[in-house]
Amino acid sequence: SFATVVDVLSGKVAVGDEVTVRGWVRTRRDSKAGISFINVHDGSCFDPIQAVVPNTLNNYDNEVLKLTTGCSVAITGTVSESAGKGQSFELQATAVKVFGFVEDPDTYPMSPKPHSMEYLREFAHLRARTNVTGAVMRVRNCLAQALHRFFHEHGYLWVATPIITASDAEGAGELFRVSTLDLMNLPKTDQNEIDFSKDFFGKESYLTVSGQLNVETYACALSKVYTFGPTFRAENSNTSRHLAEFWMVEPEVAFASLDDIAYLAEDMLKYAIRAVLEERADDMAFFQQRIDKEVINRLEHVANNKFVHMDYTDAVEILQNCGKKFEYPVSWGTDLQSEHERYLAEVHVGAPVVLKNYPKGIKAFYMRQNDDGKTVAAMDILAPGIGEIIGGSAREERLDVFDARLAEMGLPVEEYSWYRDLRRYGTVPHAGFGLGFERLVSYVTGMTNIRDVIPFPRAPKSADF
Ligand code: ATP
Ligand code: MG
Ligand code: MG
Ligand code: MG
Repeated sequence: SFATVVDVLSGKVAVGDEVTVRGWVRTRRDSKAGISFINVHDGSCFDPIQAVVPNTLNNYDNEVLKLTTGCSVAITGTVSESAGKGQSFELQATAVKVFGFVEDPDTYPMSPKPHSMEYLREFAHLRARTNVTGAVMRVRNCLAQALHRFFHEHGYLWVATPIITASDAEGAGELFRVSTLDLMNLPKTDQNEIDFSKDFFGKESYLTVSGQLNVETYACALSKVYTFGPTFRAENSNTSRHLAEFWMVEPEVAFASLDDIAYLAEDMLKYAIRAVLEERADDMAFFQQRIDKEVINRLEHVANNKFVHMDYTDAVEILQNCGKKFEYPVSWGTDLQSEHERYLAEVHVGAPVVLKNYPKGIKAFYMRQNDDGKTVAAMDILAPGIGEIIGGSAREERLDVFDARLAEMGLPVEEYSWYRDLRRYGTVPHAGFGLGFERLVSYVTGMTNIRDVIPFPRAPKSADF
């Protein structure tokens, strides 16, 4: 019968049973005694399984001695306890089948020596075979499943929000425009005839930058909802925390206040972090060893301690008086840069911070105004090493205040007619936030560049694969 590597290593298969494990060769080491030790990985867990293979197997072709890193194989053998340090079980091979050899092993890009992350990015189609990318993807999967489970257990409905939309939810102008390319009905002339200005069936539209406005409509009917999907922003700069295509988790809660969603975010993050520590201990041990020696301690601390809450106004004072020279000076009313966010989380608090009540001038039109007339009920969660990982707010539910804000910002009321309807017909206070999913994956793994925590990064000059 077939077994995965994790089935065997976790003891699910009894010692003495014969199984076939299929995967890719990571390393081969030959002993003088005519035995090869072949490590095979299949993605099911961090460690490969060691197969003890007599060279004489398949020796009509000397196949065993031709196996190199990357070859795909099925190895049949009996499970035995391993004498090797750090390994639980191994396979005493009785048959080896090769699916595919590696053409010209000397030039195989994923050789077992450690590669830089920059190098691996040039091989987005092959890097999944490395330890590091495999570990990232398992942790990423664990986080995604845990987040869905968290919301499900707390009575939230998952709502799919549209990718194609006419609105720039954030008003930041970082939009990708959608064009209709009706190739079938093009006259059979040359490509230059394509009319790239013809938008989505005649309507100017974009790829979504956030599902929030849409998910609000569902919160104002089904009470507790969330969306989790890809979002797109034309971020024309190379930072280690921005992608042009990234995933966002956006819960939206009717009758909730700013503090309600700040605590929701805290519970959600703790739940997801605990899931990773429990379910992906093997991958986390690797990140601790190779990427960031503090990562597990940090996560345990986060999982077991209350988040610190702080007002934007107090944060500005802290930043002005801390004695550190920032590239950009801080003054009340300016948006915080990543250097400021990181200082607050890393140095001042030493853990994630919930920063609340930002000046209205630096936040989006939909945020609920506070009584001081200057600030809005917004909160960002800032994480050490990264800065903002969550942005959220209470939404302005009072139609008169909302309309006044649109007018103040010079935004056309007509474009918000459906959004205003939620305020016209049975309006309720509501609040929600957006978690940048890749920022969470970066934070949890300790990986410093966001391009290394998504399977196919989309950023300026990288859309090849
Ligand atoms: P930043 O200040 O880092 O540009 P933002 O304030 O523009 O972020 P929001 O509009 O608040 O971002 O979006 C909600 C969350 O989505 C952010 O807290 C962040 O975690 C994530 N996010 C935003 N832009 C990106 C991006 N380009 N790539 C990856 N994640 C992003
Ligand atoms: Mg931004
Ligand atoms: Mg921001
Ligand atoms: Mg934000």
